[in-house]
Amino acid sequence: MRPDEFRRYGHEVVDWIADYLAGAREYPVFSRVSPGEIAGSLPASAPEQGEPMDVILEDFRRLILPGVTHWNHPRFLAYFAVTGSGPGILGEMLSAALNVNGMLWRTSPAVTELEQVTLGWLRQWLDLPEEFFGIIHDTASTSTLHAVAAAREAADPEARTRGGTGRLILYCSEQAHSSVERAVITLGIGRQNLRKIPVDDCFRLRPEALSAAVEEDLRSGARPFCVTATAGTTSTTSIDPVAEIAAIAEQYRLWLHVDGAYAGTAAVVPEFRHVLAGARRADSVVVNPHKWMFTPIDCSALYTRRPEVMRRAFSLVPEYLQGAEAPNLMEYGVPLGRRFRALKLWFVMRHYGREGVARILRNHVALAQEFAGWVRADERFEIAAPHPLSVVCFRLRASEQDNRRLLETVNSSGVAFLSNTVLHGRFTLRLAIGHMETSREDLGQVWDCVRTAAG
Ligand SMILES: *Cc1c(COP(=O)(O)O)cnc(C)c1O
Repeated sequence: MRPDEFRRYGHEVVDWIADYLAGAREYPVFSRVSPGEIAGSLPASAPEQGEPMDVILEDFRRLILPGVTHWNHPRFLAYFAVTGSGPGILGEMLSAALNVNGMLWRTSPAVTELEQVTLGWLRQWLDLPEEFFGIIHDTASTSTLHAVAAAREAADPEARTRGGTGRLILYCSEQAHSSVERAVITLGIGRQNLRKIPVDDCFRLRPEALSAAVEEDLRSGARPFCVTATAGTTSTTSIDPVAEIAAIAEQYRLWLHVDGAYAGTAAVVPEFRHVLAGARRADSVVVNPHKWMFTPIDCSALYTRRPEVMRRAFSLVPEYLQGAEAPNLMEYGVPLGRRFRALKLWFVMRHYGREGVARILRNHVALAQEFAGWVRADERFEIAAPHPLSVVCFRLRASEQDNRRLLETVNSSGVAFLSNTVLHGRFTLRLAIGHMETSREDLGQVWDCVRTAAG
């Protein structure tokens, strides 16, 4: 592509992005295509001859956009809603332009150093201890996989060489994210060696049940090695009693990993700092700036107080990659190549500042509390779980089928996109606020839509 062409289409694309972000509300939230429709509209093979950029961009608008579910829509309220903010998008664009690979310090010193600096800043915002070392991964699932691998390295350093032997046991609550179970599968620890500890009425891990399970495993000759606490579970945003879990982890010498993928960033707000209380005693902590801190996907921050163990778990340095100037981040995990993800995080943190981030998160929580109030005031509905942050679980006081139908009606209306979960065995609707443009009016519109659909 010639420089003048790049300039012309670059301007066109940026204009399109600006219009899209300003007008995201005009799109139906939920893509209405049926399975296979997008694939069926595209040629079976790639072109032999290159095609003009005008045509490619036109096909993007005509063929691809209809298959997009708009996470940028302020009434996208499913899963964990997110914001890919303007400064974050600009950082992402520059990162693509530089196209550097930060595998070693010397392959682009700014990648390694800015990653250490931005994660240091974020660590301060979250009030985590100074000795925590941070590294950026693509997702929380990858971060947790690395935390569990480090936990195994700490418990069984021989596993690296001869493969795992002995029954290592990992604990988490029955509300923990599936990424914990996936880590156990991936690392060959085995699902039968994962203990899902029961939760209390508020969906928090029960510490006494954890102690009892550890004792029982010790009696049977197994080796407890790791516990994962969740600060903000995926279903209800319940917060495990991390301080009590930390005390148990210390007593039995378990690696404590805290999964704060969504809710961890709430600790930026002084009155929500308690979300990460206890995490200061953890061996590792994950938070996702791409979930609730306006950074485009993907950006997950993994912190550990034992970076030397993390490094020991993964380090393999062939001759052609020697270079000892500074930390070489490829030694701390699975991937060799590393994108310049810190750039977009740096843009976001500087553009909003801590107070700006706190103001937006505080507003999300206030909106969720207001929505919960509306639900409570309508006797046809009930609140299904405590809602300390920006997620509200609620349901119609009616059959599962009626609730499923309600969700389907709301989502197919194009007005909003909500998701669902199962709590105490019952189908539950779930509304999650995470887009910075979501307004009180948006939520009013959603609530009208829900009430109308309820009949
Ligand atoms: C979303 C979520 C994850 C997974 O996040 P990814 O970055 O998509 O892998 C893990 N844990 C919790 C608690 C989550 O809410």
